Amino acid sequence: MTRVFSGIQPTGEPHIGNYFGAMRNYVRLGEQYGQNAIYCIVDLHAPTNPLAYDPAQLSRLTFEMALANMAVGLDPQKVLFFVQSQVREHSELSWLFTVSTPVGELERMTQYKDKAGKLESIPAGLLMYPVLMAADILLYKADTVPVGEDQTQHIELAREIARRFNHSYGDTFPEPKAVLEQGALRVPGMDGHGKMGKSKGESSTLGLLESMDSIWTKLRVAPTDPARVRRTDPGNPEICLVFDYHKLFSDDQTVLEVADGCRTAGIGCIDCKKRLMVGIERELTPIQARAAELRQRPGTVLDGLHYGAEQARAIAAPVMEEVRGKMGFLNRG
Ligand code: ATP
Ligand code: MG
Repeated sequence: MTRVFSGIQPTGEPHIGNYFGAMRNYVRLGEQYGQNAIYCIVDLHAPTNPLAYDPAQLSRLTFEMALANMAVGLDPQKVLFFVQSQVREHSELSWLFTVSTPVGELERMTQYKDKAGKLESIPAGLLMYPVLMAADILLYKADTVPVGEDQTQHIELAREIARRFNHSYGDTFPEPKAVLEQGALRVPGMDGHGKMGKSKGESSTLGLLESMDSIWTKLRVAPTDPARVRRTDPGNPEICLVFDYHKLFSDDQTVLEVADGCRTAGIGCIDCKKRLMVGIERELTPIQARAAELRQRPGTVLDGLHYGAEQARAIAAPVMEEVRGKMGFLNRG
């Protein structure tokens, strides 16, 4: 039996990297696997990055992330969709994995190194992040994890944690596999430095629910091929951010035309960006309309999450019983 699990942090407004790398696939896999597609807003992860965490914003961002996923098409009555902190077993399993995970393995994680590099004082939680993530997945004995390419190292560690547990205490967990969406492995950030990321701030991201005016304001000044100084200079689409976005949003014909136009200086960067806006508007407008509609009835979002947490607890509780038993803890009776 296939069981899918994926999490998304409420660390900022969802962006097109989250959408193409993860959220869109949640819906597709949800249609295939129903209640065996488990999606979680992983709010316990958010405080691990002090640069992205504000207690005054956490519940709003959690709600917004739920709303965005539902606007993309996730139906909490069909899949399992909930908030991590409402299912206590995540924290408990995370601790039981923490006690036996070598610190050296955690220190090797590139996301940890990236995020820790920006901090003066590194919270232990940032180092433990992938252990909590392994607990998130394995608590449901999930074997399939739709994520962006930035998470593959974490999934490899989750496999290692599952293997280690099975070796010590007998066969318990499957070894989960990442499923990556070709073409949206790592959507680059607007600043041209690395992947688009919520915690990098809104200047790096194109928001899924951002207004077309605001998107255009950012896109208009977005860097393109630096060698293309004048409109008449030929450019190289392969090193242009805007072309990366065309591949996500535009139809095949447009992608070919702008690539050719760029190489021959037949199209200027501003016109190329305007053509990109057509694709962005086509893709995001219906999602934004659904989001606006859901915003009118916040109870639908909250009820969906509440229902999801109940279903999640029903799966998580017996798995924790099994784990406690195998690890030798005194049975509560
Ligand atoms: P943060 O900066 O706080 O880590 P994030 O934007 O990286 O936020 P996450 O909540 O960490 O978002 O990840 C949610 C999902 O989105 C994951 O499956 C991740 O792989 C995917 N994802 C995040 N950024 C990108 C990106 N730029 N391209 C493709 N997928 C992405
Ligand atoms: Mg991330």
